[in-house]
Amino acid sequence: MARTDLDALALNALTLEQKASLLSGRDFWTTKPLEEAAIPSITLCDGPHGVRREAGGSDHLGINESIPATCFPPAVAVGSSWDPEVAARIGAAVGREGRALGVAVVLGPGVNIKRSPLCGRNFEYYSEDPLLSGVLAAAHVAALQAEGPGASVKHFAANNQETERMRVSAEVDERTLREIYFPAFERVVTQARPATVMCSYNRVNGVHASQNRWLLTDVLRREWGFSGVVVSDWGAVQDRVAALAAGLDLEMPGTGGASDRRIVDAVRAGDLDEAAVNASVRRVVALTERHSGVSGAFDSDAHHALARELAAECAVLLKNEDGTLPLSAEARIAVIGEFAARPRFQGGGSSHVHATRVDAALDAIRALAPDVAYAPGFALDGSGDARELREAAAEAAASADVAVVFAGLSEREESEGIDRETIDLPAVQVELIRAVAAAARRTVVVLSNGGVVSLEGWHDDVDAVLEGWLLGQAGGSAVADLLFGAVNPSGRLAESIPVRLKDTPSYLNFPGEAGQVRYGEGVMVGYRYYETVELPVRYPFGHGLSYTTFAIDGLRVVRTGDDRATVTMRVTNTGDRAGKHVVQVYVSTAAGPVRRPVRELRAFRKVSLAPGESRTVTLPLDRRAFAYYDVPLGRWAVAPGDYTIQIGENASSVVAETTISLSGDSVVPVVSLDSTLGEWLSHPLAGPALLRVLSGGKSRRTEEDDENGLRMASSMPMGRFLTFAGIDIPHATLRELVELGGSDGAAA
Ligand code: BGC
Repeated sequence: MARTDLDALALNALTLEQKASLLSGRDFWTTKPLEEAAIPSITLCDGPHGVRREAGGSDHLGINESIPATCFPPAVAVGSSWDPEVAARIGAAVGREGRALGVAVVLGPGVNIKRSPLCGRNFEYYSEDPLLSGVLAAAHVAALQAEGPGASVKHFAANNQETERMRVSAEVDERTLREIYFPAFERVVTQARPATVMCSYNRVNGVHASQNRWLLTDVLRREWGFSGVVVSDWGAVQDRVAALAAGLDLEMPGTGGASDRRIVDAVRAGDLDEAAVNASVRRVVALTERHSGVSGAFDSDAHHALARELAAECAVLLKNEDGTLPLSAEARIAVIGEFAARPRFQGGGSSHVHATRVDAALDAIRALAPDVAYAPGFALDGSGDARELREAAAEAAASADVAVVFAGLSEREESEGIDRETIDLPAVQVELIRAVAAAARRTVVVLSNGGVVSLEGWHDDVDAVLEGWLLGQAGGSAVADLLFGAVNPSGRLAESIPVRLKDTPSYLNFPGEAGQVRYGEGVMVGYRYYETVELPVRYPFGHGLSYTTFAIDGLRVVRTGDDRATVTMRVTNTGDRAGKHVVQVYVSTAAGPVRRPVRELRAFRKVSLAPGESRTVTLPLDRRAFAYYDVPLGRWAVAPGDYTIQIGENASSVVAETTISLSGDSVVPVVSLDSTLGEWLSHPLAGPALLRVLSGGKSRRTEEDDENGLRMASSMPMGRFLTFAGIDIPHATLRELVELGGSDGAAA
């Protein structure tokens, strides 16, 4: 029987060796039990869009076969649903399967931000936007945990590439971490209380995430109140003792006892405080107690049907000229492309699920329109004659009313562990699309890809494009549902589709060099960059079409507190089909001492509307929606000024807006001898005091004492200004001035 609590008495009864043994795995996927103390072993396994419970050999690259489980749409697709309900239903189903398979912690979701389209694991991440990522991940975690197993939000932090992932140092300024790379973690931790957080492999500003006390203790626990277990990414621990001292509780996988011995030795040698061991033991034991003893069964038919329903919520209709889609079942249709028969529906690596079954789009299409022609068009394994395959496809297309080409990337081209070098589709597929488009009356392209692919070179030749991303095991049926209009597309892009790889904001700094990757673009990630510098993209963040149309009117923004507001508007389905619209609320401001992106997503809601139906949507905007992270102050601040609330069709097309003024925080920067003369003079207390000292004291007067001189010297740090100007302020006076300048006059 498992214990219910590890009280102080029980903790004291454990030897140091026993305690240390609890802090690393028994093997690849399980923790060590301690029978004497009735502490069970628990199993962790990969997820998060399905359970990867390995039955035989263990690995973290998805190589060994695992027990069959439902492969739901991966995060790249869920991101495009813009619907926390979709994320929650996946989380709950994965939770049920995890419980049935005896899993205590299903690792994931991954909430790393898509900094570059080249990142090999982008298919495991939701979005380039932290709010969208955080809302979806929090919904997944809460629903999963409600079923019993715990989650592990990962990879904390700044793990935005695969190149050198175990060594590279992400060089990121604090404001960028706080505004872009942390908020999804922060939201999940504070709102969904995940059982565990997984630290990343990489270093953050030189310090391994696994040994980074600022990350794991100061920010995660002290600021965000995380009380669960910090688990290492598999093999992320370099120095077990430093990691434990930094706040890393559980090292995975096990190291055959070597790490435990290091912990014991360090405590005995006085190099590690036993209190740190005790704290981690308490957390690990609490985890084993809360999440052990699960088992049961799951309904694989029901979960497959759910996977189909949810996949259809995720695909994004990018283009649809002249109502090419939906298709009529009576039309003569040619299906082209090997992906139609052999679907690509998930990514490679540790999240790879052994699906219970897989729907091919070709079969699902034939179930609706039995006479469709099919031509593979290309061979994924490179076999056969590319020209012959292409010509046969063009011939099939020529005798059809509409050709539907299934194109995309194979698992070989994008996977955990490797970044891509290009965003182009394989040339053979581009040639195929062009040949088919030239031969067909109408051409539809359905894409299957985990990371963004360029649409250049063929986009303008085709009539419709459905971006399917990776849709999970029932994606083939979901695509058929969308193509024939059984379901109305409602996905919206969770990441921008650039025109050229060169246009992407991290282009010059990705994936770094000499062991470092500089996040030189700062907060200007994804649409924040494209919109700020007015660089055209092929399709903006937030874009997505429907078979119906929507209108927004009656925008009202009401201030509900000093720096809070609610946004209300009416959304109407102006077409003749039921459909879902995603209301996107952006905030735009130039207020404050830092450069702000031209607009940032601050709220969203997916609304389902019958034809002709209107609905009033109200969304709250809290302080954080207007704030920037002020590094010198060490906190979020709202700058006084004007804020324009914009309702976007997507990130680059605003359909309604209104401006409000906020009183903001009275931010008084703290000044020190390192602050400039200008900063001193603008400080409400220290400034006048300094002027009095400069003009009235016994200091040697120089020409800098006149107003013009002071202005010229205004960018000099105070200390150096005094030296240069030969001003000798008595030590005590200087101390008084620094004390006056030390008050930040923080907002109430
Ligand atoms: C991955 C994690 C995964 C772990 C266990 C690591 O290589 O980065 O995301 O959960 O392996 O398989």
